[in-house]
Amino acid sequence: MTAHILDGNALGQKLRAGFKQKAEELAAQGVRPGLAVILVGEDAASQVYVRNKVNACAQAGFYSEKYTYAPDVDPQVVFDKIAELNADAKIHGILVQLPLPRHFNADAVLDAIAAEKDVDGFRAENVGALMQGQPCFIPCTPYGAMKFFEEAGISPRGKEAVIVGRSNIVGKPMAMLLMHAGATVTVCHSQTKDLKAHCLRADILVAAIGKPKMITGDMVKPGAVVIDVGINRMPDGKLCGDVDFESVKEVASFITPVPGGVGPMTITMLLANTLESAERTLNA
Ligand code: NDP
Repeated sequence: MTAHILDGNALGQKLRAGFKQKAEELAAQGVRPGLAVILVGEDAASQVYVRNKVNACAQAGFYSEKYTYAPDVDPQVVFDKIAELNADAKIHGILVQLPLPRHFNADAVLDAIAAEKDVDGFRAENVGALMQGQPCFIPCTPYGAMKFFEEAGISPRGKEAVIVGRSNIVGKPMAMLLMHAGATVTVCHSQTKDLKAHCLRADILVAAIGKPKMITGDMVKPGAVVIDVGINRMPDGKLCGDVDFESVKEVASFITPVPGGVGPMTITMLLANTLESAERTLNA
């Protein structure tokens, strides 16, 4: 078996074309969706992510602002900017690119973002609402992963889903979304005993670990749907996922590539959340 490739670039383009149209409709009613992105420090990967997010806004006809700060900036400067953006009617979403330098309290920074502009969905209110199945901003990466299932006509209902990774931004919200969608969910992490045995039970396997090619073909149940969230830079400069694509594609029924899988969908769903936030202001 050779797996069907779930193409995040193609799905992202399709969804973004719809967002562009909606943005134009909103702009005609006086509201152009607006996103503010804050970057602290000089992390090369973060700079690329921020640039991609700002470019994606421009392509979709969204308004955007970008604020960059030196790694040793006084956190108060960033808190003041967030307060200003919270009060700015042009801005419907505020994103602080993670990770922040060590002298920042990242939770306090995220909590400073107004709940109605928390388009990353990382604030405690959003996390609680997601857990309760209430309306909320769904964190962009797991939201993007769920869109693959929808697009490919794969229902998680009744399936065994195994997620490797329990971070607040990927693993935990992914588990919540799959549980709400009717899957039976197992969350694995660095303390899990016999990871392979868990993975082999999975009809849906999500890898969000940050370890290059850790999930190999012998760890995957034949016919499983494999979502690779990992983004790892190899010594030769190339990107690879947490899944060993070459061996796993021979066993899985569907697989996301890296690059070109979950990554572009994360940015796409950031646009979706920003659009939703702008729509809410119109209906308020
Ligand atoms: P974190 O480092 O926050 O979490 C990694 C998780 O993997 C932890 O729960 C950790 O367990 C678990 N883990 C580590 N080693 C093992 C192991 N040997 N066996 C089982 N579990 C293990 O990472 P993130 O969730 O932030 O990101 C994961 C990956 O996804 C990274 O490569 C990141 O770059 C990528 N990413 C991609 C995005 C995209 O848009 N495609 C967006 C966000 C992240 P424990 O909790 O016990 O330490």
